[in-house]
Amino acid sequence: LAGSAALALSACTSSPAEEGGGSEEAAGVECNVGISMPTRSLERWINDGEQLQASLDEADCTTDLQYADNKTDQQISQIQNQIAGGAKILVIAAIDGEALAPVLEEAKSQGVTVIAYDRLINGSENVDYYATFDNYEVGQLQGEYIVDTLGLEDTDETFALEPFAGSPDDNNAKFFFSGAWDVLQPYVEDGTLTVPSGKAPKSDDDWASIGIQGWDSAKAQAEMDNRLSSFYTGDERVDVVLSPNDSLAIGIIASLKSAGYAPGDEYPVLTGQDADKANVKAILAGEQSMTVWKDTRTLGDRVFEMIQSIVAGEEPEVNDTETYDNGVKVVPAYLLPPETITADLVQEKLVDSGFVQASDVGL
Ligand code: BGC
Repeated sequence: LAGSAALALSACTSSPAEEGGGSEEAAGVECNVGISMPTRSLERWINDGEQLQASLDEADCTTDLQYADNKTDQQISQIQNQIAGGAKILVIAAIDGEALAPVLEEAKSQGVTVIAYDRLINGSENVDYYATFDNYEVGQLQGEYIVDTLGLEDTDETFALEPFAGSPDDNNAKFFFSGAWDVLQPYVEDGTLTVPSGKAPKSDDDWASIGIQGWDSAKAQAEMDNRLSSFYTGDERVDVVLSPNDSLAIGIIASLKSAGYAPGDEYPVLTGQDADKANVKAILAGEQSMTVWKDTRTLGDRVFEMIQSIVAGEEPEVNDTETYDNGVKVVPAYLLPPETITADLVQEKLVDSGFVQASDVGL
C-alpha cells in the first residue's frame, strides 16, 4: 500500500512542471481535478470542497473548485469549463442527480474519470466511482433514535409524528427517508405513531410528495407552519418531527418557536443530519435532539485516495458494488459510516476531533 501511495503521489507531483501543457503521465493519469460542489449556502459543502482541494494542492495536483449556487444549469456549465480546461478527473456532488448525463458524455469523450461525491449521478454509464456515507444508515439512525427516545417498543401511549423528506432531485433523499421509514412504519401501522397532517407516504415511491425542494430551510419552515396551524388547532401537540437533515431542522425549529414550543419536557423530538454549527448549538440548547454526523473529512480523504489510485493507473478501493444502481449501471461505491450525535457527545466527538471549535458552538 505504501508503495502504491508513493507511486500515486509521484505521478501527482510530477505534473506541475508540465502544467498547462496537458501532457499525460506515463504511469497513469495527470492529476488535474475539477471539483464541482452544489452550493456555498450549506456549511458542509464549503468544508467538503475546500478540504479536498487543500489535500490535492498539497500533492501538487492542479485543481479547480466551483460552487453552483444550487442551480443545475450553472453546475453543467462549470463542469463543461472544467473539461475544456483539461480536467482529467471530475469530482461532482450533483444538484440534480438526473440532469448530468449529457455533460458526462462530454467528459467520457475526453477520457475523464468521474467520481460522484456524496450524491449519486443517475442515468449515465459515465459515472466511474461513488464515494459517500451509508445514506440508508443515516435514515436508520434517525428512526432508531426516535424509537429509543420515545420508548416506542414498549409503550401504551401514542405520539404525533410529522415526517419530512429531502429534496426530490437528490438521490440521497430517498435513501435517507427509506432508512428512517423502514424503522418507523411498523409503529405508524400499529397506531403508536399517528401522523395528524396525513403527510405520510402511502407507498415507497411516495416519499417525494413530502420532499422539500432544494433542502431549503425557509420552505421547511413554511411547511411546518402550515401543518401546525392546520392540524394542531386545539390542545394537540406534535411529539416528534423526522427531519432528514440540519437545514430542514433549522426551519422546523423556527416554526416550532413561533408556534410557542419551547425547549423542555413538551418539546418534540427532532432529528437532523450534518452537525452544522447552528444545529450543534440548537442541540446544546435543547431545540434539536440529535444530528447524524458524517465526518466529511473522512469522505475527502477517501476521495483523495481514490484520486491517487486513478492517477497511478490503479483501481480505487470500493466496499459496495450492489447498492447504488443509477438506472444504467451499479456504480462501485465506497460507503463510510455515519454516527448519531446528541448533546452529551458534542464535546467528545465534534470538538475533541476538531470538527468544530468549542467557541463556534458556544462551549
Ligand atoms: C447530503 C446531506 C445534506 C443535503 C443538503 C445531501 O445530499 O448528503 O449531507 O444535508 O444533501 O445539502
